[in-house]
Amino acid sequence: MRKPIVAGNWKMHFAAEEAVALADQIRLELVDEPGQCDVVLCPTFTSLNSVKNVVDGTKIGLGAQNMHWEGSGAYTGDVSAEMILTSGCRYVILGHSERRQYAFESDADVKRKAVAALNSGLIPIICVGERLEQREADQVEEIVIGQVAAAVENIDKAELNRIVIAYEPVWAIGTGRTATASQAEEVHALIRGFFVNHAGIDVAEQIRLQYGGSVKPDNAEELFSQKNIDGGLIGGAALQADSFVDIVKAAK
Ligand code: PEP
Repeated sequence: MRKPIVAGNWKMHFAAEEAVALADQIRLELVDEPGQCDVVLCPTFTSLNSVKNVVDGTKIGLGAQNMHWEGSGAYTGDVSAEMILTSGCRYVILGHSERRQYAFESDADVKRKAVAALNSGLIPIICVGERLEQREADQVEEIVIGQVAAAVENIDKAELNRIVIAYEPVWAIGTGRTATASQAEEVHALIRGFFVNHAGIDVAEQIRLQYGGSVKPDNAEELFSQKNIDGGLIGGAALQADSFVDIVKAAK
């Protein structure tokens, strides 16, 4: 039985003071919830330390939104896995479509980052998903499985059960246009099938597959009740405590 995981991607929102206030509200609203779902908050780098102080000693985990694959060096503006880990994080989002689009991140970059994250002890949340024109051209499987295969190519099979894959159709991110539960499940089942072939059924059954793309409290339960959907990566609805907490509750 896979434990669901719901992560809030706060993107480039909130300076430290606001981030602390939101994290504190989420902490308070979840304080009496049994830990049936892993909950992760992913603020900007500059708020990690402040939010860490809020979630320390609770069941809420902390994640970063990106990292470099090198451990250190002349990479101005970048942050290594070790730095993220020692800022209190257990998780890191990799290959988000906004980074693929605006920072030109490639499958090869995501592959290197995924290995570096695992080697340092971080759990990578690896984002994959097709653009609208690719869906319309019937390329969903080719694009999504291609991204998954590239991202995990150099990961030791014994380590695969630690990764999280977030299927995020690009056309559903921040658009209010959610994949239907059956559209999402169809792709999740393809991803699970890929892992069955790649690493065997036992490993495949342990890998958590999140859905992301305009998840809201009113569609979360239906999405999360699908056989291969193990929680969500949440953008817009993670920016208010009430809606994020309602989504977490839907994952139980
Ligand atoms: C995201 O950015 O990962 C995301 C899923 O955003 P939203 O929930 O706003 O679509």
